[in-house]
Amino acid sequence: MSSTKAPFDEALRSVAEVLSVAPAVTVLCHTRPDADTIGSGLAIAEALRRLGTAVELSFAGPTELPTALAQLPGADLILDSKDVVGHPVVVAVDCASIYRLEALSALVESATHSIVIDHHISNEGFGTINYVDPQADCTAELVLSIIDELGVTVDLDMATCIYAGVVTDTGSFKWGRPKSHLIAARMLDVGVDGRRWTRTLLDTHRFAWLAMVSAALDSAVLIESAFDGRGLVYAIVDHDSAAALSWEESESVVDIVRTTAEAEVAVVFKEGSPGQWTVSMRAKSEVDLVPIAVAHGGGGHQLAAGFGASGTAAEVVRHFLASV
Ligand code: AMP
Ligand code: MN
Ligand code: MN
Repeated sequence: MSSTKAPFDEALRSVAEVLSVAPAVTVLCHTRPDADTIGSGLAIAEALRRLGTAVELSFAGPTELPTALAQLPGADLILDSKDVVGHPVVVAVDCASIYRLEALSALVESATHSIVIDHHISNEGFGTINYVDPQADCTAELVLSIIDELGVTVDLDMATCIYAGVVTDTGSFKWGRPKSHLIAARMLDVGVDGRRWTRTLLDTHRFAWLAMVSAALDSAVLIESAFDGRGLVYAIVDHDSAAALSWEESESVVDIVRTTAEAEVAVVFKEGSPGQWTVSMRAKSEVDLVPIAVAHGGGGHQLAAGFGASGTAAEVVRHFLASV
């Protein structure tokens, strides 16, 4: 018996036991929803419906559902967060901490069974059952294990949603582990249109995106001495330059900034509303970003983490620089 795998197997069995007998389940996705949280939520919701379970699915506001994610199968069934009732069994998918559920976190606290399905190393386990495996590239991988454990056959809709989580959280398989490739192959075999969904989820932007990226790249600063000489590059997307776009369109800026050869760490400060910032950090291989994110009240993975901040651009940048 493998001792490292045992706790995950046990958590997986507990999750399946509770879900297989629950008459009704509430599935919750994190705020500023990405393809992994929405894909995971939609896939588990569809599998439960197949078992005859009543399901409600929502994500924490105040942000809107990104246009690309609204095209995923079943997305039309996502409720506005204020319309969520809250069943005794609540499932949170891809939430590094309970705070990422914003106002919906109260439903986790009042649930009889709160099931946390996640792959963030910073997740301390805020549920009554925690199926948290930091080895997984994405939460969708863990949801697939649950669907298999429940004995539900993965159909094209579920496969599309799982593929969405895998392809985005592995950066189009750039850092995917072998298991992610195997899952992708299985989903493509079910019939997923990989080319279409990769383009929709990762390679489609409005024309105004180009101007926003231009302003962000113009703001970039390189500090080669930071992180013991490993280097830091940062850029700013202020409210004005992103005003014509929806919030998710600035999410990809960090993927451009982090290509800087002279910097191990890349950071993008994004001003969603005046004075309110979300900060995305990426490291290449050597710097652990989790302690930095946690110190600022956020979380994430070793090489990809984030947090929220408030103030002027100069203030949030200065505060960040003083902490590293
Ligand atoms: P992002 O830069 O928004 O793509 O986030 C990178 C990683 O950090 C993702 O895995 C997020 O789930 C996590 N993350 C970002 N912001 C927060 C936050 N405020 N609290 C906890 N985790 C976060
Ligand atoms: Mn996510
Ligand atoms: Mn994820």
